[in-house]
Amino acid sequence: MNNFNRRDFIKLMGISTAAVATPSLIKTASGNVSPRVVVVGSGFAGSTVAKYLRLWSNNIIDVTVVDPKPAHVSCVMSNLVVNGQLNMNDITFEHALLSQKYGVNFIQDYVTDVSGIGEKKVSLQNGSPLYCDYVVLAPGIQLDQIPGVDHDKVPHAWIAGEQTTNLRDKIQQIPVGGTFVMTIPKAPYRCPPGPYERACVVADIMKNKGGGTVVVLDMNPKIIVEEHMFSTAFNETYNGIVDYRSNVTIQEVDSDELTVLSSEGLFNADVINVIPPHRAGKIITDLGFNTISGRWADVNPISYELYSEPGVFVIGDSSGTSQPKSGHMANSQAKVGADAIIRMIAGTDINAPERIANITTNSACYSPITSTTATWLTAGFYYNLLEHKMKPVQASLGQAELHNADNYKDMFSWAENLFENTFM
Ligand SMILES: Cc1cc2nc3c(=O)[nH]c(=O)nc-3n(C[C@H](O)[C@H](O)[C@H](O)COP(=O)(O)OP(=O)(O)OC[C@H]3O[C@@H](n4cnc5c(N)ncnc54)[C@H](O)[C@@H]3O)c2cc1C
Repeated sequence: MNNFNRRDFIKLMGISTAAVATPSLIKTASGNVSPRVVVVGSGFAGSTVAKYLRLWSNNIIDVTVVDPKPAHVSCVMSNLVVNGQLNMNDITFEHALLSQKYGVNFIQDYVTDVSGIGEKKVSLQNGSPLYCDYVVLAPGIQLDQIPGVDHDKVPHAWIAGEQTTNLRDKIQQIPVGGTFVMTIPKAPYRCPPGPYERACVVADIMKNKGGGTVVVLDMNPKIIVEEHMFSTAFNETYNGIVDYRSNVTIQEVDSDELTVLSSEGLFNADVINVIPPHRAGKIITDLGFNTISGRWADVNPISYELYSEPGVFVIGDSSGTSQPKSGHMANSQAKVGADAIIRMIAGTDINAPERIANITTNSACYSPITSTTATWLTAGFYYNLLEHKMKPVQASLGQAELHNADNYKDMFSWAENLFENTFM
């Protein structure tokens, strides 16, 4: 690893951007009416921003989170549900925790519209509209449609929940010597190492069962992260099991016959796992907010405010920045966004040099390679004033040299830390 201690990195969680925030600022806000923020989505980004808006404003900001799901099921660690090492309970977080501890209001509903200049109106599918001063959109991702794909029969398991158990149950039924075919979307997508990690997790299951094939159809020209680690895992640890192909175009999937027609030919499978290309959450594209390449929300990286919609912020996987799409990064971006909103409410300058100089974010992904070993990848980012974008801190870029049992153990400490910092 490049001169960077991973334990220090884990400790950094939650303080990198906290160093930027100044809770006392909010006391200067005028008037007796509490400023109101509505957060759309209660995943890694939405839960973190809600929690820190309350904490850093000394509970002055009125924060309401809207999500159709009563609890968040984490994609992080979900591949360990797929291989049976964890249960769904281990990756499920009740919204009540943030309500009880921090006074965040939670409404179980789906946001259908956001409108208004100045005061915002947030329309809900079932309930009455909400009115607020700022809206934070944290709706995660939506998946492109691939011809012939029925995700009940061909799960993606890239948004955790029923999809995760669906994939797990289907994999359990694969016969010895059977075939699993998976597809990897063009980058940028959610969790850069995630699909390669999934290939390893499934190959491990097949190996322990007594053999089989994992066909990996990657739409990218090569393995996009931890190339040495994953190619060694495919060619050595899972030699004769993983059949990796790059630069693949997926033409059509037959969800009943379980075939994939691709630029590499026709593949028959016992189980297919299609992870389609993705883009910002549906609400963002439905509302026609400005996007980069029609996919990701075009935000200012010092606040995550949309350039085109003052008072509307987009954080997490939906945002289009130069940073990876990860839960750890969503947590980090949420803190920068919370800090910016608090300063705006307090009427202080979010462009102040001392603030700009302190904007940092970070990301980490741990990947199980076998049922007892794991690898990891880290990156920290700082705000580059000249280029007006987040750039990697070179000294923070690191990755494991080996997949081993120590990393596997650290993966649980890191995940517990992230879960606690986000949902509790
Ligand atoms: C297999 C796998 C492994 C991963 N491993 C890691 C890892 O090791 N490390 C890491 O950091 N990241 C990892 N990730 C990535 C991580 O899960 C995502 O980056 C993270 O979930 C993004 O957070 P988010 O808040 O943007 O979106 P989400 O967590 O998906 O939350 C979005 C929420 O918005 C809600 N929503 C959507 N639309 C609306 C609407 N209109 N109204 C109301 N609510 C709405 C949804 O119901 C959902 O609850 C992994 C992902 C996968 C798939």
